[in-house]
Amino acid sequence: MKLQFALATKNFSLRNRRAPRLLYKMETVRSIPTRIFEDTETAFAHLSDADLYRAKWLFTLVGNPSLVQAGSALANTALRLRLPVSFLFRLTVYNHFCGGETLPDCRKVIDMLAGRHVGVMLNYGVELKETEEDFEASVSENLRAIKFAGENETVKTVCIKLTGLGPFVLFEKMNNGETLTRQELRELSQVKKRFHRLCKEAAAAQVSLYVDAEESWIQNALDNIVEEFMREYNRTFAVVCNTFQLYRHDRLAYLQQQITEARQGRYLLGAKLVRGAYMEKERERAEALGYPSPIHADKKAVDRDFDKAVLMCLENLEVVNVCIASHSEASNLYAMKKMDEMNLPRHHPHVWFSQLYGMGDHITFNQARLGFNATKYLPYGPVRDVIPYLIRRAQENTSVAGQTGRELSLIQKEIARRKKH
Ligand SMILES: Cc1cc2nc3c(=O)[nH]c(=O)nc-3n(C[C@H](O)[C@H](O)[C@H](O)COP(=O)(O)OP(=O)(O)OC[C@H]3O[C@@H](n4cnc5c(N)ncnc54)[C@H](O)[C@@H]3O)c2cc1C
Repeated sequence: MKLQFALATKNFSLRNRRAPRLLYKMETVRSIPTRIFEDTETAFAHLSDADLYRAKWLFTLVGNPSLVQAGSALANTALRLRLPVSFLFRLTVYNHFCGGETLPDCRKVIDMLAGRHVGVMLNYGVELKETEEDFEASVSENLRAIKFAGENETVKTVCIKLTGLGPFVLFEKMNNGETLTRQELRELSQVKKRFHRLCKEAAAAQVSLYVDAEESWIQNALDNIVEEFMREYNRTFAVVCNTFQLYRHDRLAYLQQQITEARQGRYLLGAKLVRGAYMEKERERAEALGYPSPIHADKKAVDRDFDKAVLMCLENLEVVNVCIASHSEASNLYAMKKMDEMNLPRHHPHVWFSQLYGMGDHITFNQARLGFNATKYLPYGPVRDVIPYLIRRAQENTSVAGQTGRELSLIQKEIARRKKH
């Protein structure tokens, strides 16, 4: 059945609920088939046969742990020695996982995604900021990204890291409750000034800023800042959103507390739900320094908390704007079915789904086809500067049990399907 479908308003106002704009015509399926994510024709419709073979080759490569380990070490050395390795990355991982070197370069990918009813979360993928000039450069680039997002209907969000706005050691000291020196107080004031500039621009452009969650030993400091800014900016829509890492055993209680505070303070809580990217690092540090690990003992407990967090957000949508950021088929299916069960519109302006560009296409494009608010997290930036992000993607695809195997088997399935037709 073909129905007119509203993707949703770009943003949602607590006070001024605007009628959703009709953006796309698409197929709407009433009930969600349990095997929806096995539809590889929908998942890979945007890829030519040549693209598919390239993706197959890539996931076969990153599925080999020794190759990824050796490749990462070599890449890091080449970066340190400033060897010209950009072309190698462009040939392999860059085009698969990134939108382009500049914002206009991303337009092709953004248009392709828009054509398939998928929105974009932009991320300037340059990491490892250390100096005041770096922090200022990061603000300038993110201001450009916000402006660009404001001018592009399907770009909903810009993702930032607070460690891109100020020194890591400052956040670490704040996290430990240490007294800051005069110089550090000045640095903190600079961080907040930079964050205010971004938030003001985002509020004016009707764009949301999603703040990434990072290591637990700086996260309380980051949370305190994000909370302060949410209270100030999230009065009419979720200008600022925090990230909740459900691999931490204290995050469900924190989410509940944040929902209560948002309700009492009459502002909107922006909540990106993730499992968490720093498990090994967290465990190693906890063991080395002799404190209990903040991470759940096993994956089952993480999965349970993630789905509980999804439900908690869905039950409080009048004060929560949630982004379910995961490649887990089970968690995505759980959220989608729950929304239907609760009679929530699939294009509810407070519920978003997101996967990284280059991964989880079987989830993203099938969600979009069913009328859910599907988005891709799209990094961009000069090839050389995005290499650390790419190395992490390759390592993640090797270390996350089953993820590469899953991507590869879906690609193989689609190649076989196309051969038959
Ligand atoms: C759009 C988007 C934005 C993101 N933003 C952030 C961010 O801001 N901060 C951040 O930290 N991460 C972020 N991530 C990464 C995310 O935290 C996960 O690392 C990644 O998505 C894999 O988890 P999953 O839910 O997709 O899939 P799954 O494959 O179901 O889960 C894998 C994850 O489960 C956890 N896990 C696996 N084994 C165990 C175990 N034995 N014990 C305990 N836990 C285990 C780990 O967190 C692992 O990454 C983001 C991901 C996406 C898609």
